[in-house]
Amino acid sequence: MSAPFDVIVVGGGVTGAGVARDAALRGLTVALVERGAPGCGTTAASTHLIHGGMRYLLYDRLTTHETCWDCGHIVRTAGDLLTRLPIVWPVYRDHARGLETVETLLEEYDRFQPMKHGRRHLRLSAETCARLVPGIKTEGLIGALSFDEWWVDAEDLARRTLESAKAAGAQILLGAPAEAVLRAGARVIGVRAGGRNLRGRVTVNAAGPWVDKVARLAGASLPLRLMKGTHLVYRDQALSPVGLLLEAEDRSRCIFVVPSPLGTWVGPTDLPGPDDPDEARTTDDEIAYLTRSVRRYFPRWPRHHDATIVGSRPILGQPGAENLLSRDFEVFDHELRDGIPGLLTIGGGKMSDYRLMAEAATDAACRKLGAAAHGTTQLTTLDGRPVAAIPPWPQPAPALKRFLRARPRLRRLHALAHLGAAFASHLARRAAGSCPETDEAAFRRHYATD
Ligand SMILES: Cc1cc2nc3c(=O)[nH]c(=O)nc-3n(C[C@H](O)[C@H](O)[C@H](O)COP(=O)(O)OP(=O)(O)OC[C@H]3O[C@@H](n4cnc5c(N)ncnc54)[C@H](O)[C@@H]3O)c2cc1C
Repeated sequence: MSAPFDVIVVGGGVTGAGVARDAALRGLTVALVERGAPGCGTTAASTHLIHGGMRYLLYDRLTTHETCWDCGHIVRTAGDLLTRLPIVWPVYRDHARGLETVETLLEEYDRFQPMKHGRRHLRLSAETCARLVPGIKTEGLIGALSFDEWWVDAEDLARRTLESAKAAGAQILLGAPAEAVLRAGARVIGVRAGGRNLRGRVTVNAAGPWVDKVARLAGASLPLRLMKGTHLVYRDQALSPVGLLLEAEDRSRCIFVVPSPLGTWVGPTDLPGPDDPDEARTTDDEIAYLTRSVRRYFPRWPRHHDATIVGSRPILGQPGAENLLSRDFEVFDHELRDGIPGLLTIGGGKMSDYRLMAEAATDAACRKLGAAAHGTTQLTTLDGRPVAAIPPWPQPAPALKRFLRARPRLRRLHALAHLGAAFASHLARRAAGSCPETDEAAFRRHYATD
């Protein structure tokens, strides 16, 4: 029988691809099995933004902080795949959040933007907004704010990360579903995938919303709350010349309009999904909600979309309301948790911190293997060129993160306390006349790619 791999990875979404790359760059022997094509799961159904999660500033500030930090690494190591996307947030008289509240949120996001090579926000008049976004409803429009994120072809990011893993020596098996885990007593010693037995000293379950299904093959289970998200896809790539963040018709959520080489995407929704991600389907209600939400602003918006895409966010089970669920991630050691040595799961997180998630999972695998090698994924581009480390940036204290993670109400208070102080200082600056509006030409210069 052939020697076992050091690490077997189940799942070739962006996270599993990241784990395979990280482990292979550390000199470990790696095999990855993916039941479909690279990134074909949740990764493909994402909004395709490398972003810090500005919305989490409302209830989970430390995740925004940490995600922006890892976005910076992705920008440096996968920069040729990314495009800067300016996003305009129009504000209307009847909106739940007024201009000053939205600007406060963006001023707070500005603190983290430099980590991800983002630009500071701009304040726009209603007239400038109407010029930048032709066809937008002007009745009730009182102004707009803008910020920027990075657009990426998410499946390409997974594919290129897998290619990088392969170049570092990893074996990649596509179209190879893990059907069973191999056991020696309680210990997991690999997987049976695509008709082959692959033996591994550590198996990393990186199956996104399917992590629970894969863990069950080994007799374990994981606390996931799957939240379903749908996008409407229009073939026309330029229904809006810039990205948009629009208050949806229920007024409690916002949806993106993202123009891209893959078409114009509108969404996502955020609804409790079925426990089995294979059962997630777009409903007529979701289509109607998204269509009405965008047509509130664009009376001439096409009545018919060309496609829909749906995915399930792999959110870790947490106490508290659905709209307060943290997007942070966790590595589960099934030896400590369930008495099953040889199996780790990486769960939760975002595409935007996939490198950090992969590093945490590979660190855990190295501890199991007694391997001393450190992660170097932040120092090499996906096509193998060296890059310098990002200058140090203060990181959230792990103890504070752990403490707040278990207390969602306190975590929200922590976020709101920061925003409250920021709102007061914003109002003071506004009274002093130091929040100027930007014109169209300055907007274009500001977001021009470097
Ligand atoms: C609607 C929506 C919008 C989102 N937008 C964003 C965004 O803009 N930015 C962002 O950062 N994050 C976003 N996210 C979150 C992000 O998409 C996910 O966090 C990320 O893609 C998860 O990647 P993953 O590799 O962990 O999971 P997946 O991409 O789901 O990969 C898991 C892989 O495991 C494979 N698999 C499953 N079972 C098996 C098996 N038995 N054997 C072998 N392979 C198996 C699947 O085929 C799949 O390819 C969004 C999520 C949703 C749902």
